[in-house]
Amino acid sequence: MSIASINPTTGQQLQIFPTLSDDLLKAKIIESERAFQDYRQTSWEQRSQWLHRAASLLRDDRQSLEWAKLMTLEMGKPIEQAIAEIQKCALVCDYYAEHGAAYLAPEIVTTDASESRIEYHPLGTILAVMPWNFPFWQVFRFAAPTLMAGNVALLKHASNVPQCAIAIEEIFLQSGFPPGVFQTLLISADRVESIVKSPQVKAATLTGSEPAGASLAQTAGSVLKKTVLELGGSDPFIVTTSADLDAAVAVGVKARLLNNGQSCIAAKRFIVLEAIADDFTAKFVEAFRKLQIGDPLQTATDAGPLATLAGLEQIDRQVRDSIAGGAECLIGGKPWSGLPGFFYEPTILKNIPPTCATYRDEFFGPVALLFTVPDLDAAIALANDSPFGLGASAWTQDDSERDRLIRELDAGSVFINGMVKSDPRLPFGGIKRSGYGRELGRSGILEFVNIKTIWIK
Ligand code: NDP
Repeated sequence: MSIASINPTTGQQLQIFPTLSDDLLKAKIIESERAFQDYRQTSWEQRSQWLHRAASLLRDDRQSLEWAKLMTLEMGKPIEQAIAEIQKCALVCDYYAEHGAAYLAPEIVTTDASESRIEYHPLGTILAVMPWNFPFWQVFRFAAPTLMAGNVALLKHASNVPQCAIAIEEIFLQSGFPPGVFQTLLISADRVESIVKSPQVKAATLTGSEPAGASLAQTAGSVLKKTVLELGGSDPFIVTTSADLDAAVAVGVKARLLNNGQSCIAAKRFIVLEAIADDFTAKFVEAFRKLQIGDPLQTATDAGPLATLAGLEQIDRQVRDSIAGGAECLIGGKPWSGLPGFFYEPTILKNIPPTCATYRDEFFGPVALLFTVPDLDAAIALANDSPFGLGASAWTQDDSERDRLIRELDAGSVFINGMVKSDPRLPFGGIKRSGYGRELGRSGILEFVNIKTIWIK
């Protein structure tokens, strides 16, 4: 078995890697348990130093550009976004280096004991199953809190980004983390089950599709191990009559097209009140028309290729099914053939009927779904009429509308007059079929610790 790195801009194979043999995989799992026994004894100061060093490496101009290029070559992200992603990884390392110890400091609680308190202890080896869409960020936002808490990590990265996976292990080693504390496993998804069941592995997290999340959770449930799941989304982007329309259009286009449309928290359903719908639609379509499609290594490119041929085929099928089911295509609607890779034209589909099979789908590509609604009640009802509940963005300058939107939108986060984004300082995660648990902030570092109660008579 092998894992191939394919450039989605050209369709050409870049490199091919053998997958780990069963024996080597077993050895790495045992090594992680051995590493944990030493690593758990290290001080906050020591872990914090290693994380700060990882941040410095990520900020090194020459190296960070190399890693950014690696992402762009393996999965097609526009290069400027890749550079920004590396910078954000540095931020999350510094964030937990600075705050981790305080977040996990013992808490005194007054009870009938002479002394009672809560302590936070590491669990051991945590498995991370990660996707290709933010190949560095998704891993670092898991790894920084996990390692700061004293756990050790095994990474099963998506099969189309093996070079990124290898580079990340190298960064942690170069930062000073002892061998075995962070290990990359080059394996296919069908090997995850046996890893989760290994006694050395204490918990797992997965970012990716619903089927992958459900499969991991089922396995982990069968051996009673904790999971955190960050799955799909079909985030609403609501524009009310009081909104700053030009700002909403500019941010809406960015929020839909970021990462060539392949982000779980991308704005996917644009829900616009009828009174301003014509105006919004004209500006939105015009902004899509101006987007530069092309080689993601060129800084002028707004939209690069989809990461895989399967992703391209899926989005094309969803668009065709939506149009056949009654949606109106305002722009785009087909693959783009300017380069040989997996490109799709930025597309806007208007008013997919609820009867259409794709109405509740996640569209993981550069396709905006536009809906017009008579009033705010209808906007909120439509926003919540989704199996997902990851993020929501709403545009209004009216305080009472704002308060209603915050209260009534069923989502893990609500952003008012801004695009949904992750931030090391704020918890991140979803409800409904978007998953459970939280990453980032204090909530993130508390997911994989033993909250130990101490009671002394
Ligand atoms: P997957 O969910 O298949 O892949 C994500 C990760 O899970 C990869 O490491 C993958 O490994 C692994 N995986 C896949 N199946 C299983 C399984 N049964 N058990 C354990 N691990 C598994 O995403 P795809 O890349 O196939 O994308 C499909 C769809 O998923 C997208 O269209 C989008 O809707 C959603 N998605 C959401 C993401 C998000 O950020 N929330 C990110 C990526 C995808 P391998 O690569 O070896 O298959």
